Amino acid sequence: MSNRWSVLALILVVCCLSHLTECLASSTPRKERDALSSDICSTLANQFPGKVELPTDAEYASNLLTYYSEQEQKVHPACIISPNSTLEVSAIINSIREHNATFAIRSGGHALNAGAANIENGVTINLRAMNALTTDAAGARVYIGPGLKWTEIYARLDRLGLVIPGGRDGDVGVGGLLTGGGISFFSGRFGWACDSVDNFEVVVASGAIINANAYENSDLFQALKGGSNNFGIVTRFDVRAFPLKEFYGGQIITPEIPGVPSTVPGKIKGFADLLANRDPYAAVILNFGWTPQVTFVSTVLQYTKPGVVDPPVFAPFTHAPDPVHLIDSVRVANLSSFAAELSASPGYGSKYQWATSTFTGDEAMIITAHKLWNASISALPPGTKANWFAGVQLFPVTASQPNAFGIPNSSESSKLAVFLLIYFGYSAEEEAAITKIAQKLIADIEAAAKKAGKYNAFKYLNYAAYWQDPISAYGNLAAMREVSKVYDPSGLFQKNCPGGFKIPVL
Ligand SMILES: Cc1cc2nc3c(=O)[nH]c(=O)nc-3n(C[C@H](O)[C@H](O)[C@H](O)COP(=O)(O)OP(=O)(O)OC[C@H]3O[C@@H](n4cnc5c(N)ncnc54)[C@H](O)[C@@H]3O)c2cc1C
Repeated sequence: MSNRWSVLALILVVCCLSHLTECLASSTPRKERDALSSDICSTLANQFPGKVELPTDAEYASNLLTYYSEQEQKVHPACIISPNSTLEVSAIINSIREHNATFAIRSGGHALNAGAANIENGVTINLRAMNALTTDAAGARVYIGPGLKWTEIYARLDRLGLVIPGGRDGDVGVGGLLTGGGISFFSGRFGWACDSVDNFEVVVASGAIINANAYENSDLFQALKGGSNNFGIVTRFDVRAFPLKEFYGGQIITPEIPGVPSTVPGKIKGFADLLANRDPYAAVILNFGWTPQVTFVSTVLQYTKPGVVDPPVFAPFTHAPDPVHLIDSVRVANLSSFAAELSASPGYGSKYQWATSTFTGDEAMIITAHKLWNASISALPPGTKANWFAGVQLFPVTASQPNAFGIPNSSESSKLAVFLLIYFGYSAEEEAAITKIAQKLIADIEAAAKKAGKYNAFKYLNYAAYWQDPISAYGNLAAMREVSKVYDPSGLFQKNCPGGFKIPVL
């Protein structure tokens, strides 16, 4: 064999050993792959009459339009199957495994990255019909199906005077948010939303239906909190609830007006002060926004201690010398109302991307991040219609029960800020250039954070761009690898379910 061929052969062997299914799939001719997918789709259609949608069905097209981002809407599965019971999910996994088919798991469809919850030419398992919600007699625990959206949960719980930690935007789905982490209005008290899950009912690769909690399959319990779709399909989440009817919160949006002193510095200081002296009831998102029409600063504020209105910790935002407000919705309301307000954000169905970083959020570091974001605006393509937002959020407190993130409970971790870059509404022609600008901005912020000794490698999976690798920085990555070996020895969820963020190959 010539040198060139032996190198090629070696690459093929390494590729096949580490990604056997993808490798075989990619070396399988298109016609055969199409035959394989139509085979699994007809098997499923026979098994589950009326529950399988094919590309020729009208429901298939309308189903794709319910994904949040254009990228996900443009992925075309061979079929979409909508189970409505755990037993059906188990039977689907058995058929998929027997056919060695590829698949995706979809809950609310809000993950932005193409292929996270949808799969080209494979089987998309749409969990939206698994939407049961029950509570225990004491109102201490809520049992929720993975297909629910948070708005549907909050509406039911508001009537009972109960809440559970979940999405701040009510249109987000349960499955992705709770398996990826979840920043809620209550993260200052209870940590990531997944930290309030007491038990996961899961269908694992063998098709077995098991429970994962502090006493049973506790290794899987830890891994599922942040581990996304790497271990199985969660078919029910049992979540701790607590009583709460109404609380203080809302949004303030202020335009940046040339010649008028900006209130951004005072708001950055207010945010940094909150991080330095954490108030468990305070939730704040401080966002900086640029659109072709307006540059603005927005704050989303919630103070979840009942009866407290206009708390002093929010004074830098609520009593800032803003010249004018585009929106000021601060009020006392219930969780449904706040979640509905945030689900009215623009951008649905457009090209939409998020990217993230984490750093110690003192005033100097946030000022640096804001300056770098501001400077990046001039790099955007001339005449673009893109929206270019960036912001900081309070890092959830560390909970007593472990999760996959493995972030120690320390005075350092309580000062972390989650940085989120949001860009949407750009054209296909602009995509490559805008992606480079986003990557450079994140790289510049991380370089500045490293230089200042404020860098943290953690990246929140549910905010990460497809070009980021959040799981590689998890503190409990080694334990996740072990869990994958135990519950999925053949690697079904690593290889046949390639979408989303996977456990990095060693
Ligand atoms: C407008 C908007 C607002 C947001 N607001 C918040 C917020 O307030 N707080 C926050 O933390 N995040 C927020 N997010 C991020 C959000 O948490 C993620 O996008 C999350 O993945 C969405 O969950 P989903 O079920 O809707 O997504 P999907 O796209 O359906 O799924 C996301 C991922 O989870 C996997 N998955 C879904 N269900 C299951 C299951 N049952 N078992 C195993 N794997 C599963 C999928 O395979 C996929 O990889 C927001 C996102 C958007 C676009």
